[in-house]
Amino acid sequence: MKQSQMFIPTMKETPADAESVSHRLLLRGGFIRQNAAGVYSYLPLGYKIIKKIETIIREEMDGIGSQELLMPAMQPAELWHETGRWDVYGPELMRLKDRHGRYFALGATGEELITSLIRDYLNSYKKLPMSLYQIQTKFRDEKRPRFGLLRGREFIMKDAYTFHDSAESLDKSYWEMYHAYCRIFERCGLKYRAVLADSGAIGGKDTHEFQALAEIGEDTIAYSDSSDYAANLEMAAVLDTDDAIKGKALPLEKVSGNQEIAQDTALTAHWFKTRTDTVVVFIKTGDEINDVKIKNVLGTDLIEPLETSNKDAIHPDKGVRVLADNALKHLAQTSVYNEAENLTYFHLDPDRDLAIERYDDLRFIKEGDPSPDGNGVIKFARGIEIGQVFKLGTKYSEAMNATYLDADGKAKPLIMGCYGIGVSRTLSAICEQYHDDEGMIWPKSLTPFTIHLITVNPKNEEQLKLSEKLYTQFSNQGYDVLWDERKERPGVKFADSELIGCPVQVIVGKKAADQIVELASRKQKERIETKVGQLSDAVT
Ligand code: ATP
Ligand code: MG
Ligand code: MG
Ligand code: MG
Repeated sequence: MKQSQMFIPTMKETPADAESVSHRLLLRGGFIRQNAAGVYSYLPLGYKIIKKIETIIREEMDGIGSQELLMPAMQPAELWHETGRWDVYGPELMRLKDRHGRYFALGATGEELITSLIRDYLNSYKKLPMSLYQIQTKFRDEKRPRFGLLRGREFIMKDAYTFHDSAESLDKSYWEMYHAYCRIFERCGLKYRAVLADSGAIGGKDTHEFQALAEIGEDTIAYSDSSDYAANLEMAAVLDTDDAIKGKALPLEKVSGNQEIAQDTALTAHWFKTRTDTVVVFIKTGDEINDVKIKNVLGTDLIEPLETSNKDAIHPDKGVRVLADNALKHLAQTSVYNEAENLTYFHLDPDRDLAIERYDDLRFIKEGDPSPDGNGVIKFARGIEIGQVFKLGTKYSEAMNATYLDADGKAKPLIMGCYGIGVSRTLSAICEQYHDDEGMIWPKSLTPFTIHLITVNPKNEEQLKLSEKLYTQFSNQGYDVLWDERKERPGVKFADSELIGCPVQVIVGKKAADQIVELASRKQKERIETKVGQLSDAVT
């Protein structure tokens, strides 16, 4: 492509409101533009990379026998009523009303929709298992959209769903998916970790998150320095059981000691969990939570403001979060250390029927603690959640009456798994890992163009002629070439080239008449004079 004809609005200045490297560089390099808070356009360069990520995803999904379909972003509210999530999901779910007064959700996720599609068809064990996926825009009205594509309100997600007649069959698909995700993120060049995560209110037991390692990441990963053990450290939830805890807040002072939680109590519990170590922190509900400050071991705010409610929220307006029943089971072992004032820590023992007791000797899991698997010691790192795989079980199939007949002709709920990848977030995660101060340095598998051909002075006949020849030659050799033949100052061209970040730069300048150009790798920067005849070897 000739650069003069492309829409690449690079920016010299650093945009004031861009707080992360990826956000800054994606804006400055002309990859994306913001249209509203958390809502972005992918410009031609950015969209090229998105499509390359999608191609990798499609190849790996197809490779494990998952079938691609495309479901609407606009989903009838009735489906969300069937599972109760219309009320439970909270303000993150974007809703709209059509001219006839019918309500719709803008898809935040697709469990309801896919279950409604397959429930009439997948009616026999003979048709199982089945695996389906889509790459579709998702909408979540995030309280704090930020860091560009990292936390958007409209974003691209790959979501896959599998259907089974046994736990073993689900397990098999789960691990196939897990390994496909590993291959996808490896092919994207990402440094990442697959970590044990919490299934929260989504239900099910097993779940792993894929975390791209980056300082800006909002998650903290605890991993062993000498084994594969890795877990997401940070979880937050509010206690709710079907009938034990409901309604208005109970002042904390009233729940110290060994006291049963009263019927009309709503508590906010923030807890940390790794496989063996769980921390529970109860704090007051209501607006007062905004006054609470507690830092986690890495110094980040542990407790977000109340409005961080998400799909597990029961009181969307108040932002109270619900702890899934199954999560209670994890809360066996508790240790915290008291760092903040105005907080009371409690230990929750699930076997004691929700009785809670004051726990004074409190301690977080620390770096250097022995790893739960006995190999090595715990280290911490920051991660960006780029994907997650879940064993859902029968939560959705039961709620939506999606059953199949087993070999004995008995109707049973389908067993499900669901699997997400944040496609647009992955683009940002790659930026966080592949850049320097001047701009992007794209990995070969994803770069928008392989070669950036730069004509220093296009008004010079020799330079133009040689550039044209090289452009044709590279193109014929199958390289994707961006040719900067713009009538701009060299400084502007080089700065733009750094921002755009193609791995190879071929610079046609003063020595064009002698058939000599300069060859540089975006990463090393050093320019090497090269005879045109030797270019082909050098470029590859
Ligand atoms: P987070 O914890 O960051 O809010 P999530 O756990 O709510 O993410 P999932 O429901 O697991 O997200 O969705 C699957 C994937 O979609 C995530 O792993 C992430 O990569 C991506 N994703 C989720 N929310 C956003 C968002 N607001 N912007 C961009 N990508 C997102
Ligand atoms: Mg979320
Ligand atoms: Mg998450
Ligand atoms: Mg997740």
